[in-house]
Amino acid sequence: MRAMFNRCMECDEIVTNPICSECLAEQMRTAVAEDSPKLAKLIQGINTMGETLCLFCHKRVGLCAHCFSKDVHELIAEKNPQLAKKFMAQFDFELRTKIADFE
Ligand SMILES: [Zn+2]
Ligand SMILES: [Zn+2]
Repeated sequence: MRAMFNRCMECDEIVTNPICSECLAEQMRTAVAEDSPKLAKLIQGINTMGETLCLFCHKRVGLCAHCFSKDVHELIAEKNPQLAKKFMAQFDFELRTKIADFE
């Protein structure tokens, strides 16, 4: 029998709280659009293959929330560092500790 869990294709961690990037992107767009509708349009979900199904829309999840947030955070930081800080406070999937390590 196959295990009922799935690892993230990017960081290889087990995806414990599966939310697909489409659903995350939707939430992120709404939050970012308050400050920058233009930037919000750039946030796109990624289609991935995985064993785990999204809690909301039941699409397959192959990327953990942390990795997707990190990618989106990088995108925002490039265009608008101020907004990137706000984003990090709202979508804090262990981003803070990772960035602290990096600095
Ligand atoms: Zn990951
Ligand atoms: Zn979903």
